Amino acid sequence: MFMDQLASIDGSYLSTWKDVKKQNPKANFKGPTPKWFQKLEKSNIIAAETSNYRPKNEWTISWDLVHQCELYGKTIEQQNDLYDTSLTYQTHYIPVVDADTRSNLTPKKVTPTLQPCPGQCGHSVPFSSDLRPKCVIVSLTSHLIFFNVHAKKFIPNKQFLKLEKSFIFPVTPLHTLRTQAFTFSKHRLIIPNVLPSTVPILSTLDSYLNVNSEIFNNSINLNLNISSSLFINNIFVGNRDLIIELLEIAKQFLLWKNFIFYTDGSFSSLDVTSSTQTQMDFAWIETADATPNSGPPPPSYKGALSFNPSSTKAEVYALLTAIIAVPDNSELDVFTDSLNVIHTFYVVTNKLTSIRRILKCNNHLAWRLIDTLITKKSLIVRLHKVKAHSNDYWNDMADGLANAARQLAPYEINPTNLPGSLMTPIWASIAPIDRDIRKFCHNLTDAYTFDQFLGNPSLSPIFDRFPLPSIHWPLT
Ligand SMILES: [Zn+2]
Repeated sequence: MFMDQLASIDGSYLSTWKDVKKQNPKANFKGPTPKWFQKLEKSNIIAAETSNYRPKNEWTISWDLVHQCELYGKTIEQQNDLYDTSLTYQTHYIPVVDADTRSNLTPKKVTPTLQPCPGQCGHSVPFSSDLRPKCVIVSLTSHLIFFNVHAKKFIPNKQFLKLEKSFIFPVTPLHTLRTQAFTFSKHRLIIPNVLPSTVPILSTLDSYLNVNSEIFNNSINLNLNISSSLFINNIFVGNRDLIIELLEIAKQFLLWKNFIFYTDGSFSSLDVTSSTQTQMDFAWIETADATPNSGPPPPSYKGALSFNPSSTKAEVYALLTAIIAVPDNSELDVFTDSLNVIHTFYVVTNKLTSIRRILKCNNHLAWRLIDTLITKKSLIVRLHKVKAHSNDYWNDMADGLANAARQLAPYEINPTNLPGSLMTPIWASIAPIDRDIRKFCHNLTDAYTFDQFLGNPSLSPIFDRFPLPSIHWPLT
């Protein structure tokens, strides 16, 4: 079978099955329209002379990216434009939530029930060729997921239902369909909403970028190329002054090749009475051309962070910003007092480490960015251990800078620009989860279970006699 045997005479449309039979009298097709042909019709291939195709009993679900909800529909007409996308007009159906009278059912146990949308739902589009449906919606044909419904006469779980004539019963649980639609749209979770997602018009950062546009158009540092997704301004969200300072120091480094960095991170428990903005800060100094106790102070950078506080995170971000600041093809010697960072560095940058393993590392957003940058910028990075608080002049200086950074407003990595990431899990719309997600969920469940235990009414005689703070939990 060749495509021209199935296409209309001018070759631009898929013929109907009736015409295919006429066009190929020798083939002697018998019986109903074959499955493979139905599939061809459903796909994006332009069908029929009118280019409009009206499938029967076609039920679909799709994900509405604008309203963030699922749309159920029964296809009225599929409109295929010759060089354009195919659109499907559907009668809108909505789930009936209270049809099943049983309570305490799991989402998958509820009898899936749909009924026609009465309109005014915010999804309707004008549609003139069929005026019967009250609400007509339209979706891209390629984004539809098909599902089957029970025949008119068949009613599942009849004894539990408040029946109405217009009800339609899908074969698959609505919960499953919804999950399919959501996953299919390859929906990307966006950046945490506590941080400004867009920079306001005419901010200091904008005017800074304008003034320096020449340098940022053609730079030998990948992170200074304004067209790159790894441009410094695309990597971070949050405190804009920190971003400008990093751009500025990267500019200063443009003609250098070899770097010696001393990095340090600091972490302190939260003090609500003090005026400090964060509890996690980092700093580094570049000492290739400097001598201790003399000459001008060496180039330095400091920053502050907020989410998922830990001292290691601060150290990792010090390394990350140092790597961002240097031009492509540089050599870096980095002195840090964190053995943890050195260890994880070799795990992450080892090409044999699987992405699964990397996603289990704490702070994997930063680590994946470090790995990407080292490869893309062709950097040579050597890490060295210095003993903490051992009166090393440069290490003490970095330490002092990091402590001073506590007065700064924080910033964070914008996870949407990380190459190769399909989606980023976000905890309660606050922050991306950049650690082992299984452990993370485990901790949440533990805390929840413990809370349930404390609130258990049958244990209240005990807790009434012994107030909660008086119990030593680790010992019990
Ligand atoms: Zn509707």
